[in-house]
Amino acid sequence: MNLSLAGSTDVVRVRGLTKTYAGRTVVDAIDLSIAPGEVVGLIGANGAGKTTTVECLQGLRRPNGGTVRVFGLDPAAQADRLRPMIGSQLQDSGLPDRLRVGEALRLFAGPDAGDGDVLLERFGLGHRRRLAFGTMSGGERQRLFLVLALLNRPQLVILDELTQGLDPAARREVWASVTQLREAGTTILLVTHELEEAEVLCDRVVAMRAGRVLDSGTPAELVARHGGWATVGFSLPPGRPDDDLAALRALPGVQSVQRHADQVTVIGRRSVIAHTGAWLVRRGWVPEDLRADVPDLETALLALLDSPPDSPTGSPAPSTTQEVA
Ligand code: ATP
Repeated sequence: MNLSLAGSTDVVRVRGLTKTYAGRTVVDAIDLSIAPGEVVGLIGANGAGKTTTVECLQGLRRPNGGTVRVFGLDPAAQADRLRPMIGSQLQDSGLPDRLRVGEALRLFAGPDAGDGDVLLERFGLGHRRRLAFGTMSGGERQRLFLVLALLNRPQLVILDELTQGLDPAARREVWASVTQLREAGTTILLVTHELEEAEVLCDRVVAMRAGRVLDSGTPAELVARHGGWATVGFSLPPGRPDDDLAALRALPGVQSVQRHADQVTVIGRRSVIAHTGAWLVRRGWVPEDLRADVPDLETALLALLDSPPDSPTGSPAPSTTQEVA
C-alpha cells in the first residue's frame, strides 16, 4: 500500500487514476479527494469520464493506472469489504414496474439496514409504501433511489445523474432531499452535468473534460478563477464632473470604468462592489439605482468547460469593452 495514502483521513483519495478502453484513454491520470462530510460534485459534459471514475471507486471497473483508496481500501481488490460502506444511486437505475415501495425496501435491506419507514417519511414517501414503481412520478422514483441508497447506512453516498429527466419542480424536491443529507453530514459524491445542481448542492466541484480534471475548488474559488469580472452600475447625479470618476478607477480591483450618458459601469474583481459602494457613500452619493452583477458558478464552469484545450485555466476572462470614462 502506498504510505502517503495509508495515513489519509479522506473518504476518497485518488491519485493518477487512469482507465483505458480498447487502448483509448477515457480517464487520464486524475486526482480526487473527498473529506468526511463533504459534498463533492464531479461535473463535465457527456463522455468526460465521470461515470468511469465512479465505477473505479466502487470496484466495478479495474483501473489501468494510479492509486484508488476508498476508506483506505483498494476497490479493485477489496470490493466486498467496501460494498456495505457505499450507497449508490447509479445512472439509469431501474426497478421492475410492479415492485412496490415496501417490497423494494425489503429487497435492498442488508443485515445492518436502518429503519426504511423513517427514511420514507424523511423523503416524503411515507404514504407511498404500497405504490408500484411503475406508477411513481420521476421525482418520487429518484427519492426512492435515494432512500435505497441510504437504507444500509452507508458512509459514502454516490449519486450519478440524480435529476436527469426531471421537471424543474421534481428536481427541486430531490435537491431538497440531498440538502437534508448534506446538513446531516453525509459524505456525498454527486455526478452531474447540470451546473445549477452543482452550485446548489456542492461544497466542492471537480470539473472534468475528456478524461482530465480541468480544475477543482469550492464554488467561490471557481467563480473567482473563471467567472470573469463583477460589474457595478449606477447613475451619476446631475452636475457631477467626469474627473470624479478618475478616483473610482484607482480603487483596488477595478479593471475599467465606463460611462454612457449618466450611466457609470465599474468592472473589476468582486471586491469592487464593496469599494464602489463605500466610495459613493464617502462622496455623499447614494444612487437609488446602484446594482451589482456577480458571476455565478454556472458562468464560471461554462467558461472553464468551453475554454480551448490548451488555454490557461487560472485567470478570469478579461473585459473586451472600451473604457470611455
Ligand atoms: P455521461 O455524462 O454521458 O455519463 P461520463 O462523463 O460519465 O458521460 P463515461 O460514461 O465515463 O463519461 O464515458 C467516458 C468515455 O468512455 C466515453 O467516451 C464512453 O463512450 C467510453 N466508455 C464508457 N464505458 C465504456 C465501455 N464499457 N467500453 C468502451 N468505452 C466505454
